[in-house]
Amino acid sequence: MRKKLVVLTGAGMSAESGIPTFRGGDGLWENHRIEDVASPEGWEKNPQLVLEFYNQRRRKILASAPNRGHEILKSLEAHFEVIIITQNIDNLHERAGSSNVLHLHGLITQARSTVQPEDIYNIEGTELLWGDRCDAGYQLRPNIVWFGEEVPMIPIAAELCSLADYFVVVGTSLQVYPAAGLIHFAPSGIKKFIIDPGADSLARSNDLVPIAKKASEGLEELKLNLLSELQ
Ligand code: NAD
Repeated sequence: MRKKLVVLTGAGMSAESGIPTFRGGDGLWENHRIEDVASPEGWEKNPQLVLEFYNQRRRKILASAPNRGHEILKSLEAHFEVIIITQNIDNLHERAGSSNVLHLHGLITQARSTVQPEDIYNIEGTELLWGDRCDAGYQLRPNIVWFGEEVPMIPIAAELCSLADYFVVVGTSLQVYPAAGLIHFAPSGIKKFIIDPGADSLARSNDLVPIAKKASEGLEELKLNLLSELQ
């Protein structure tokens, strides 16, 4: 049976595809305060601003392409059962061909009912507008988990982490909870890595081997390392 490689990815995974991370230093996400565009309070205050913010993100993501790092993760499926748990709302892992992707924080290409959260729709094109309604007649919102909201996929993700034979973290500052807490569910005694230009300091407080590189170069190095384990 193939060994399970569980990979937790964050915004840094998509940085080389031209999609900015949000902890670049100013604490803003694309020039917006996070609470204005990614919280239930922001939605209450100004839903049009929130819709337009995600419309912009969607336009940018759909115009971008998976990078070498996404492709390496796909290629590892030839050797491992690869399970990707991503904090990213983009669909670049899927577009690189990865077959097993769990989105913790939702997906930019989907909308959901504001009243019945289980009513999820694919967005045709790039725009979700005020007045766009679900079949039951309620306003639609982006299918994104905002700050302060429950993360319904966490129990499933924690279970997947607990089954890992190898565990890898790529491009996350490990500051957003509960996602960051998932690293503690990976079994002790297995090999765990973190790939991030800031890996040295991130690894220090966690039980992770640092690869202080960008996602593409770091995953190249990881692949060589893991394949040598299989020989
Ligand atoms: P973050 O912005 O807090 O941290 C990004 C991390 O990526 C940092 O540690 C940084 O050193 C690292 N990094 C930067 N460039 C890199 C590269 N080329 N290769 C590898 N690592 C690199 O991101 P987060 O921890 O994922 O938390 C951000 C939250 O914002 C997530 O919950 C996510 O939903 C959302 N977000 C998503 C996207 C996306 O979907 N692409 C983009 C921005 C923010």
